[in-house]
Amino acid sequence: MTCTTIKVGDMTAIVCSRGRKPRKKCSECGTRPATQACDWKMPGGGTCDKPLCRNCSYPPARNKDLCGEHVPLFREWLAKRPPPGSKEPKK
Ligand SMILES: [Zn+2]
Ligand SMILES: [Zn+2]
Repeated sequence: MTCTTIKVGDMTAIVCSRGRKPRKKCSECGTRPATQACDWKMPGGGTCDKPLCRNCSYPPARNKDLCGEHVPLFREWLAKRPPPGSKEPKK
């Protein structure tokens, strides 16, 4: 992990990159360079981090990506959870 200190005005922030190098090949199609990584939270901590190209990633939210293996899991999770904005009255 490489950390860089950046200064914005009088604020100092530390930005750490997790070494997501775009030179890796996408693990789904194996041909295109991976520009994203799966953001699925793993039970043991951390994220799946499977390298994905733009074509093979599924974005569940802005700046998030999921690999083909985790899209079904995400859909399952979505189905179990009430859609945002629908507030069911408590009984
Ligand atoms: Zn791909
Ligand atoms: Zn994944």
